[in-house]
Amino acid sequence: MRIAIAGIVHETNTYCREQTPLSDFRVARGDDILARRGQESAVDGFVSACEEFGVEPVPILVAGAQPSGTIEAGAYDGFKQEILMGLRDRQPFDGVVLTLHGAGVVDGIDDLEADLAISVREVVGAHVPIVATFDLHGNIAQPMADALDGVLACHHYPHIDMHERSREAVRLIQRMVNEGLRTAIHVERIPVALPTTTTFFGIGQEVLAYMLEAEGAADVIDISWFHGFPYADTPLVSSTVVVTTSGDQQRAASIAKQLGHVIWERREAFQIESLSATEAVSKAVNAVADESNRKAGPVVINETSDNCGGGAPGDGTHLLRAMLDAHLVNACFGFIVDPEVAAQAHAAGVGRTISVRLGGKSDGLHGTPIEADVYVKALHDGALILQAMGRGGRLDLGPLARLVIEGIDVVVGSKRSQTFDAEPFLAVGIDVMRYDIVALKSSNHFRGYFQERAREIVTADPPGMTTLKVEVFPRQHTSVPLWPLDANAQYE
Ligand SMILES: [Zn+2]
Repeated sequence: MRIAIAGIVHETNTYCREQTPLSDFRVARGDDILARRGQESAVDGFVSACEEFGVEPVPILVAGAQPSGTIEAGAYDGFKQEILMGLRDRQPFDGVVLTLHGAGVVDGIDDLEADLAISVREVVGAHVPIVATFDLHGNIAQPMADALDGVLACHHYPHIDMHERSREAVRLIQRMVNEGLRTAIHVERIPVALPTTTTFFGIGQEVLAYMLEAEGAADVIDISWFHGFPYADTPLVSSTVVVTTSGDQQRAASIAKQLGHVIWERREAFQIESLSATEAVSKAVNAVADESNRKAGPVVINETSDNCGGGAPGDGTHLLRAMLDAHLVNACFGFIVDPEVAAQAHAAGVGRTISVRLGGKSDGLHGTPIEADVYVKALHDGALILQAMGRGGRLDLGPLARLVIEGIDVVVGSKRSQTFDAEPFLAVGIDVMRYDIVALKSSNHFRGYFQERAREIVTADPPGMTTLKVEVFPRQHTSVPLWPLDANAQYE
């Protein structure tokens, strides 16, 4: 059995001012795709499952970039044509697996995934199974699902199960080929724009439990809950429940509608407390002093509103400034994106004191630069291996510097990324477990490492491109009223 592997993965924040060019994408072809085995990623899941099940993987092209602005039309079209040509040239296949995000937007194309899925279907024909795996932050719709035989989103946020869903995709193709199984897929749209919501506890965990329970029915192959991606202005923005059954379209629709009501009826519970940077710092200070909390570990403050993982610049200074103003002791921050300051520190060397203007350079929204004389404590090349979510995957932050600013250890990186685990700290000699307060920029993926290790987690939501206040974004392309942006929003 031969299964082709391809995909284009991008979470597009249409509110970013700059478009995303070809040069921002990391591209793997051929053996480079097979080499991603063992990285707990979607691609690893495909490759490992093929090996496990005795399937020949045929790697075509996988391209992905950090979440950022609308993709330049030429960049997308180049990848798309290369995938389609690769599929034509290397036919026949028993199946195709695609790694997609679900929230991809191209200049001139609102729904990257539908465009690609329909094009792949045209190339391989009606009878070759195509199964795609997704990030649960996709904004998706029925036309894409109609071109596919399986729509499998990761269940968890942090996305710790991407590789497991890919394994299921290969398994599903095997069943379709060997057992003649045919699927029916229904995409149920729930008109809500949800703020980022972890599935590790609370309402996210509660709703996911309904999905997983319903998935246990004999004729149900898969249930995927797409939370949706609110930082985009396209007609697709919403939460969706996607039910795949063994051929019964009506049954898929009726299960999806029941689960749609589970979300709709609980929508108020998705509203999360939004703390300013100052409020979050003071809450963290109180948590450190709280002697009734016997849990060990640091109090972690996550600056959710400047999350590179949702398209924000990562150079915001709101939280760091509040920490400096509070004169925190035994606190660290990891990290702020500022290639200029990182280069300045590397040029000066360890042990020197330099004058910097740190962060706040991308736009006015994320704060102004912090001007200070800082001590260069440690330097690193920024090449890291992920240790929690996406374990084994490579992360290149570019030159890293550990600066000491008024007693606070601040890590500065050169390339955009959120903080997934403790590696950016460890690289420059910081053991997060020895600090009272650890600050970082991420919405939920950091929980893959920190949830169990933090004494408490406090979320800071100062102004930023990935704020929890999804209602602040102007919307011109919404196709139906969305709760909580519009009081007239209705489900059915
Ligand atoms: Zn996601």
